[in-house]
Amino acid sequence: MSRLPSSKQAQNRRYYEEHREEYLKRARLYYAANREKVKAQVKAYQEAHAEESAAWHAAYGKAHRAENNERNRRWYSRHLEVRRARGREQALASYYRHLEANREKARAIAHARRALGNLTVADIRYVFGRSGGKCGLCGKYVRKTERSLDHIIPVALGGNNDLCNLQLAHLFCNLTRHTGSRIPAQTRML
Ligand SMILES: [Zn+2]
Repeated sequence: MSRLPSSKQAQNRRYYEEHREEYLKRARLYYAANREKVKAQVKAYQEAHAEESAAWHAAYGKAHRAENNERNRRWYSRHLEVRRARGREQALASYYRHLEANREKARAIAHARRALGNLTVADIRYVFGRSGGKCGLCGKYVRKTERSLDHIIPVALGGNNDLCNLQLAHLFCNLTRHTGSRIPAQTRML
């Protein structure tokens, strides 16, 4: 662009400001009709003025740092929420797939849990007494509030509810016994 004398420049600017809407409308129409051409022109301009453009962006970034940081922070937190929600969905979906794939096993375990309900207090006392108060899984002392009845051979692997297949265990040890699953499959809190 050729340099205009400053008074002429000011005049032009005033004229532009007064007719801004018109200009913008025309520019939008032109852009809509010549999208590809305009894009190519902008790209060519940016390539020809790469250094200038980089300097401008750097200066702009510096001047708007707080604003940009805030925008970035919002963007990240929004996306984190989305990712977390997706994580929960995926975990649930995988749990349901697991249930579906282990339907027979789950049925056997449910049956065994119901059967545990048929044990008498004397049976349970007997199992606990036999253990000497020690957890059958970690060997440490089990407080009353931590007690659970554990299948030595898991029901899912064919273990039954005979007293000889039952032992005292920490509820925690029992629940975390089978890696990859925290589903309290064969547990009874006592
Ligand atoms: Zn234990």
